[in-house]
Amino acid sequence: MKWRGRRASSNVEDRRGRSPMVTRGVPIGCGGLVLLLLFAVLGGDPQQLLDVLDQGGGGPTASAPSAGGVPQGPPADELGEFAAVVLADTEETWGEVFSRQGVRYRPPVLVLFSDAVRSACGLNSAAVGPFYCPADQKVYLDLSFFDQLERRFGAPGDFAQAYVIAHEVGHHVQNQLGISGRVDSLRRRSSEREDNELSVRLELQADCLAGVWGYHARDLLEPGDVEEGMRAAAAIGDDTLQRQAGARVRPESWTHGSSAQRVEWLQRGLRSGDPDVCDTFEGRL
Ligand SMILES: [Zn+2]
Repeated sequence: MKWRGRRASSNVEDRRGRSPMVTRGVPIGCGGLVLLLLFAVLGGDPQQLLDVLDQGGGGPTASAPSAGGVPQGPPADELGEFAAVVLADTEETWGEVFSRQGVRYRPPVLVLFSDAVRSACGLNSAAVGPFYCPADQKVYLDLSFFDQLERRFGAPGDFAQAYVIAHEVGHHVQNQLGISGRVDSLRRRSSEREDNELSVRLELQADCLAGVWGYHARDLLEPGDVEEGMRAAAAIGDDTLQRQAGARVRPESWTHGSSAQRVEWLQRGLRSGDPDVCDTFEGRL
């Protein structure tokens, strides 16, 4: 990607190297369960990870809120700056898309953290992967996830990383449009199977919205970038992750969609640039 020298967003909170702060709610986890599964396969005890999530034990401890002074604005290091540039580009894209509908886009804040973080959605270990918390409208990202994306998931490249950020921003767009709220209330009255299907539809829509951003970011793209995004989408499909974990492929247990579905919806957004093509809630997926 040709991202250097571009505007970096100021909507960044750099909490790397700080102890987690305290608050509560429900996050839109992107791959939490599958990462849990992977964690088990990689030799960790999932209960240990759950303990970290529930009580703040085992990993970095939940402490009193750190006294202010969290650096705001674009970070100076390369990876932090890259994330802030991608975020700035999503602000431009969604700002334009929303303004065409006469609506003002309220951009999310990107929180960079290391190891564990407190959000309005609780205490989260980096093991759950990047996530969006609707309660505080922030995207949470431990940049070391990009290493995992490359080494563990076999999806290297800056556009693969940008896709991850754009997917989380997609959840923010869903939140601002009221989609997440409607889906949440449906999910509360659903069976587990229906709940999983609604989750898949929400996640595939976030993939499609990431594609819509990618379409509008074409001037940043270099040859091979789109392929990097596709590889990443395919690498984190639920069927692929279940196979890698040596588990049976069970579509009814999916929460994010198969590799083919994730690639398909990312591609739809990338090809058209029109969020109207991202209606994952109608018909078969
Ligand atoms: Zn997601």
